[in-house]
Amino acid sequence: MKNMMRTGEEYINALCDGRTVFINGESITNHVDHPAFRNSIRTIANLYDYKIAHADEMAFKTEDGKQMSLHWQLPTTPERLIARGYFSYEWAKQTAGWVGKGPNHVASMLVGMMTHIELLESHSPERANAFRDYFAYASENDLYLTHALVNPQGDRSKTPGEHTKNLYHSLGIVEKNDKGIIVRGAKMLATGAVLADEVLVGAQKPLKQGIDERYALCFAMPLNAKGIKIIARNSYEFGKNAKDYPLSSRFDENDSMLYFDDVLVPWERVFICEDIDAIFNLMGVTAAPVLMDIQSMARYVVKLHFLAGLAQEMTEINGVDQLPAVKESLAQLASYAMNIEGLFKGVLHCPEVHNGYYLPNRTQLSVYQVISQSLYPKVMETIRKLAGGGILMLPSGEADLENDEILAFIEKSQYSSITSPVERIRMMKLVWDAVGSEFASRHQQYELFYTGAPYQTLARLYHQYNWQASKELVEKIKML
Ligand SMILES: Cc1cc2nc3c(=O)[nH]c(=O)nc-3n(C[C@H](O)[C@H](O)[C@H](O)COP(=O)(O)OP(=O)(O)OC[C@H]3O[C@@H](n4cnc5c(N)ncnc54)[C@H](O)[C@@H]3O)c2cc1C
Repeated sequence: MKNMMRTGEEYINALCDGRTVFINGESITNHVDHPAFRNSIRTIANLYDYKIAHADEMAFKTEDGKQMSLHWQLPTTPERLIARGYFSYEWAKQTAGWVGKGPNHVASMLVGMMTHIELLESHSPERANAFRDYFAYASENDLYLTHALVNPQGDRSKTPGEHTKNLYHSLGIVEKNDKGIIVRGAKMLATGAVLADEVLVGAQKPLKQGIDERYALCFAMPLNAKGIKIIARNSYEFGKNAKDYPLSSRFDENDSMLYFDDVLVPWERVFICEDIDAIFNLMGVTAAPVLMDIQSMARYVVKLHFLAGLAQEMTEINGVDQLPAVKESLAQLASYAMNIEGLFKGVLHCPEVHNGYYLPNRTQLSVYQVISQSLYPKVMETIRKLAGGGILMLPSGEADLENDEILAFIEKSQYSSITSPVERIRMMKLVWDAVGSEFASRHQQYELFYTGAPYQTLARLYHQYNWQASKELVEKIKML
């Protein structure tokens, strides 16, 4: 059997590709070993190795005898949809849910485009063929893609084409020629742009017919392509050690702005070109968003369980876990985790069929988006309330524990009836990294926005919910 699954080492080697990354005033070379990114890159490499080590459950065999990672499998049976969900759950457990857009996130988007390939075909058979070939290429090379769907903010009262003084503020077509399209401009954020091999570019916010065609694009490019500039945000792993910052130091999937400085995208990588209806259908009709949501839900559930466990252990350390009010707060955290887990299992086990593909229910996933956005700040607040000042009553860093004079005072003051002073410190630092650090704060923003702003997710649900069925219940009672 031909193995198409990459090892961690192969992943890292492929990432040494000379891409342009700007950070801290520099254009860096060899981003793979740079202290701003090297640990998170190793985290992803470990994920690749983990699925090879667990290939029995995390791989599938294609009809032509290839072994591939399960996240590339098309959900042609109900069991395959379930397996896809549990694959994501198992992978998320390896990082306790702190990696949001690992290699299975955008891969799921590509699978969701394949399940609706007829829609791409109805817009353009050539572009649909290009996508089919790209899907085969990406899956057979086990590529890690990020995506860049949203345009930079600019003036949000206008569409990109209404920014008449700055038409290439957002990424758009400058020229078409026999080789492909030349694109210029920015995309707002691509999580993990320094970790991924390639970027899938699309568009998510409304575009106007007759004004915005140049922005209605979907294509994929390697992140080392000539002209792509990765403008990384501040790195949270930079200068952090794993004992003081156990999460920041390992799981910081740097979000980056992408600037396309007149990049030539060959036709074989252009999937939608100047077609506003096709762009709308990409996120509004195909299974691209719903299959991404399965991955998102899996890792959100894992993260909620992790946070519940974190809170419980912290209260045990502080000797408050048996107080009735504390038990109530902990039960709230458990209920949040179990609630989303129930929704996750519900969408996996009650699929809808389209073209012979088993897909999760779109409305249920919108419900997940809405609830998850409002839940996360509550989880953070609950843990902060349970923590008190203990998550700040901490020595400045690991070096303090290596100084005997300071350690002596630390050991006298960091008392817990169930653990040692040093273990108590380690635990409280983990809590701080989950709820209070810059990394934690970014996660709060991530949970609020990665799938669209709350006004968007609520609008989606409003349009999808079956109001008629609800109103029929009302009518029935009125008629009694
Ligand atoms: C951590 C993080 C990671 C991300 N990663 C990615 C990624 O990998 N790929 C990607 O494509 N995108 C990514 N995004 C971008 C994300 O998709 C957007 O943040 C999201 O779509 C919201 O768009 P926006 O940020 O431009 O907010 P805006 O649309 O500007 O909205 C901001 C706020 O303005 C108000 N507002 C704006 N317009 C309206 C309106 N019409 N009605 C009512 N209120 C309004 C609301 O209060 C809203 O919350 C990421 C975002 C974050 C925070």
